[in-house]
Amino acid sequence: MKYILVANWKSHPGSLDEAKRLLVGLVKQSANFKKLHTVIAAPNIFLDLVGSKIRSIGVLASQDISLIPKGTHTGETTVEMLKGLGVKVSIIGHSERRKLGETSDLVSKKLGQAIREGITPIVCVGEDAHDTEGRYYEVLNSQIRSSLEGLKKTDAKKIVVAYEPVWAIGKSAKDAMQPNDLSQMVIFIRKVLTEMFGRNAADQVAIIYGGSVEPGNARELLKSGAQGFLVGHSSLSAKSFVEIAKAILNK
Ligand code: PEP
Repeated sequence: MKYILVANWKSHPGSLDEAKRLLVGLVKQSANFKKLHTVIAAPNIFLDLVGSKIRSIGVLASQDISLIPKGTHTGETTVEMLKGLGVKVSIIGHSERRKLGETSDLVSKKLGQAIREGITPIVCVGEDAHDTEGRYYEVLNSQIRSSLEGLKKTDAKKIVVAYEPVWAIGKSAKDAMQPNDLSQMVIFIRKVLTEMFGRNAADQVAIIYGGSVEPGNARELLKSGAQGFLVGHSSLSAKSFVEIAKAILNK
C-alpha cells in the first residue's frame, strides 16, 4: 500500500516568489514524494505555478470545490477552471471552512460534485473537543453520516476521509493526537463507514489523519493504522515536509 501525504498550504505562502522557493525545495526531493501518493493543495492563485511542476512530485489539489457553474458569479472559481489547471483532488469540508459556515449538508453536495467531475475528494471530519465523556464519538458519527450523505456504495472507494480533530490543528507535535487514541478513532471511523456502505466498500476508503503532524511525530502516528497524513503548517517548509515523507517511508 502506498501512503497518502497531503500538503495543505491554506492561505500561504504570502508571495509568488515564496511559493516558487517552496516548490523548488520540493522538486529537489521529489524522489521521496514519488514513493507516496503526494498531493499539494495550493491556494487557487498558485495552482498554475504548482501545476507546472507537480508531475515530479505527485498530484495537484484545490482546497475547496465550488458548486457554481461558469457564469455571472463574481469571485467564484469553477470546477471547470480547476480541472483546466490540472486539479485532480479537492479538500472538502475542512474545519476552517466549516467555521466560516460550511455545513455538512453543503459538504455532501460538494462531495457529489467532485465524484461527478472525476475529482478525488478528501472529506475532512473531526470533533471540536475531545471531551472526557466521549461525546466526540457521537459528534463524529453524525458528521461523517451527514457529510457522506448520498454517496453511493460503489463510489465509496473513490474518497479519502481525513480525520482532523479541530483541537489538534495548528499546534505542535506534543499537542497532536497520540497514536493510541488515533488508532481508536480510525477503528471507529471504519465502523461507521461499514455501517453505511458495508464491509467491502468501507475497507477501500483511505482514512488519513491531520492535526499537527510534524517530522517528530509522523512515524509514531502511523502506528495507528492511518493511511497517511494531511499536513498544514509543516508543509510550508520543504525541509519539514520532506522529513515527514521520509518518516513515512522509513516506518
Ligand atoms: C490542517 O489544517 O489541515 C492541518 C492539519 O494543519 P496543521 O498540520 O497545521 O495542524
